[in-house]
Formats: sequence, C-alpha cells, structure tokens
Amino acid sequence: MFAGGGTGGIPVSAVEVADFVVEEQLPAVVEALVRIHQRYSSRKNRNKARIKFLVKRFGAEKFRALFQEEFARTLELPQRPWEPLEWRQPTEAPEPVSPGGVVAQHDGKACVIVNPPLGLLTSDEFEALADLAEGHGADGFRVTRDQNLAITGLDPETVGEVVGEVRKLGFGVEDEPGDVANVVVCPGTTTCGIGITNSQNFGREILDQVQGYAAKPNLTVNVSGCQNGCGLHHVADFGFRGMGKKIGGKNAPHYQIYFGGDARENGQIGLTGPIVPARLAKTALDLVLDGYATGKVNGETVRQWALRLGKEGLKDLVKPIAGEIDADNEGLFFDFGEDWVYSPPSGRTAECAAGFEDDDLMRDLADDGLINMDRALVAGRNDRAFVFAREGFRYAAQRLRIRAGLPGEDEDSEELVISTIRGADQDDTEVIDALDGYLETRVAAEAGGDPAPYREALALWVDTAAEMMARPVTVEAFDPAAFGKDGGVMDLIRGG
Ligand code: SF4
Repeated sequence: MFAGGGTGGIPVSAVEVADFVVEEQLPAVVEALVRIHQRYSSRKNRNKARIKFLVKRFGAEKFRALFQEEFARTLELPQRPWEPLEWRQPTEAPEPVSPGGVVAQHDGKACVIVNPPLGLLTSDEFEALADLAEGHGADGFRVTRDQNLAITGLDPETVGEVVGEVRKLGFGVEDEPGDVANVVVCPGTTTCGIGITNSQNFGREILDQVQGYAAKPNLTVNVSGCQNGCGLHHVADFGFRGMGKKIGGKNAPHYQIYFGGDARENGQIGLTGPIVPARLAKTALDLVLDGYATGKVNGETVRQWALRLGKEGLKDLVKPIAGEIDADNEGLFFDFGEDWVYSPPSGRTAECAAGFEDDDLMRDLADDGLINMDRALVAGRNDRAFVFAREGFRYAAQRLRIRAGLPGEDEDSEELVISTIRGADQDDTEVIDALDGYLETRVAAEAGGDPAPYREALALWVDTAAEMMARPVTVEAFDPAAFGKDGGVMDLIRGG
C-alpha cells in the first residue's frame, strides 16, 4: 500500500505504508489514512490540507508508523461491510502503456480505445460515436486518464468493423497500444479561471511534432497551464508547466520543462529543467527531442539520459533559442492562439463550492464519530468509544458554529466551543437541551456509568445540529432596517 503522494505545485512520490493487505482490510486502510489526515492535516490553509504534507511534516518513517498504529487500532473495531472482489489469475505482465487499440475485456467482450486529439470532441462527433457504439451493442463509454475514450462491451467478432467506422469518423485507433504518441493537456486559459498559459493551444501546436517522433515509441508529452499540474506534467517523458515570467520587465507566458517522469512502474517525478518563453517552447521541444534521439546511449530512458546530462546539460539543450529571448521580440508577449498581450491571472480561486463542502465534511465527520462510538462499544473498547464520541460532538458543534458565523479555530478549547454555542443559540431550547444532555451523560459514562445514555445523547446532539442546519432562514431576518453599521448577514441570522 502506498500513500501520501501527489502532484500539483509540490509533487511528492507516495511512500509505502504496508507491504501487503488482504482485500477485506482495504476499508480499514482507507479509514486509517482518512483519520490521520483528519487529525493532523492543516485546517487553516486549504492548500496545505493534503496527505502529502503530512509525509513532509513527519517524514516517511513516522508517517508509516502513524498509519500502522491507526490501522491496527481500526482493525480492532468491527469492520465496515465489504463486498468480496472477483479475482482472476493474471494472464499477462502489467501493461507498460495505457490501453490502446482493441483491448480484450475480462468478460469475453472487447473494447476499442478511441484517440481524439488532445481529448477534444465536438458534441456532433460525440453523438456520431454514440450512434456507432449503440449500433454495435456497446454497453458504454469510459474516459481514460490519457484523455482517450473507451467504447466497452463490444462483440469480439465485430470489433474490427467498429475500428474501421471509428477511423472513418476521423479518429485514431492504435494498431498496438502505445504506437501513437500521446499529448495530454489541461484546458489552461481556454476555460480554467486560474490558468496561466493556454496549454491547450500549445498542445495543438506540438501534436504532429510529438506523434511523428521516431526515437521513442510510447512517448508521453503532458502540458499543464499552471503549477497545479492537472495535465500531469510531472509524470511524462517530457512535461511542460505554464508560468508567468518577465522579459525586460514585462510579463510573458513561459513553460518550465520536466524530464523523465513516470506514472507507472517506478512512480517518479520528472526532473526540473529550463524555463522557456511559451512562444519558443515548440522549438525547445524540438531541441530536447533531438537531444534525446541523438544523445541517448545504450537504450537509456529519458530519465537516465536526463540524469546523466544534469541541470546544466539540460539547459544547454535549449541554448540555441537564447538569442530570441528579447523584449523587442513582441511575439513573446502573446500566448499561442491569442491576439492580446499576455497578462497574469487575476487571482481567482477555483474552489467556489468550498463553503458548502465545509459543512458536508463536518456532517460526515459528526456521523462518523457516532458510528465509530458504536463500533468501539461493540468491541468492548469504551475508552476509544469516548474519544470517538468527543470527536463526533465536536464536529456537530462546529456545524453550529459555522451556522452562527463564528467558526473559530481548530485548536479552540472545548469550553470556548460550548460557550460560542450557548451564546449564539441561547434562545434555542432544542440546542441548549441537547447540549446539556450530552454533557451530563458524558460525565456519568466517563466515570464508569452505563455508556448507553451517553450514546443516545450524542445521537440527539448530532441530529439537532443537522436539523438546525436544514432550517430555512426566515425572511424577516433580512429586514434591511436591521442592518447596522457594524452588523452583517450572519448577525441577522443569529438574531432571527
Ligand atoms: S493545471 Fe492549472 S491551468 Fe491547467 S486546469 Fe489545472 S488549474 Fe487550470
């Protein structure tokens, strides 16, 4: 089991957390990882709320130890329901490339992988493909990680016809998996609000160049319009990452080139190479492709070759374009396919649904606290049941704090959490009664009394929070006359 990997601005390879688990333990693996994430990840900085940052914070050894401890603890509890998987004997070595061409399914049917260039289809084209697929009894489409499309559930007897018709529609279907090099691009500034470069237009520019490259079968070139890496530039033979950089004091679109990434067997992050203006990136790609074709020795992979060249050697590859990088070269300030002078993005964020997600997460965690309390009680682990109960209480309380517009901080003491709720919901007897009931029964249970009333009080507390969240805000609460100089909508909601 590997965990804690991620791409994005700070790419990290996953670390091994267990050398083997049986399938029934998979839910416990996930649960243990989620619990560690929940317990230790940043709640202040959304950008840092990733498991990969825990690996960075603790180091691989400690992260592994934390996982194993939590995993063992989770296995002591009654396990979540598990539907046994259907296993089969492997018949061939793992595929070295993404599926391509005609693929035999394990149920005796066949699947055709369609290669729309850069994964782009018009609705008319998609409809034509759908008609074709339906006409041949297909059971569906799948989208592959490489921006290709799989038509599944075909009869192996007639699959040849499907391939012919797909090709007639103008789409590629490989003869052998990987025999046509792939260019994967994110949308970039065509549609992405936080994109820096127009990665899609750049992808169009280089498609023929990449597909015509003879020196490496299965070449992968991935392009992302910014550091977030949705085009997976970190794990391609040659990756391009969009960025803004100044030339003569003026912003111009640029790409940084990455070498020898591998998303498959070795899971390696590409080596960072030179940064080139976007408008010269096509020439730069020519130079690095030539460099590899003529410079690799003894069948070196792109990574081995790039490691041997080192940072300076990789920089030298693109030296021939240095003379063109000049503020007087006006073309450098226009991105591919765009006729306006480049300007960096306006700082919009992508996570427009974040506010709703916050409450959904708290709701799930509150429910989870109750479920885990039950599991621990069944396992005779009252000590753990009480820890889970406190967690469930806290998450439900957090929902009420968010509702009151006073979310506070993760580290706030329980006294502060409770006093916030008592202050905000003082007129709401349901909330205050549920809170008091929870606190009283907790004292009794933790002193060695019967845990059942405590469990019921927690359930009531979680339900009460859910009911409050579902309650509509009354129209009167928005009486404009109630807006004071220092007031705000949340004050009104609290007052209403
Ligand atoms: S990599 Fe950047 S530009 Fe591309 S889709 Fe992701 S966020 Fe947008």
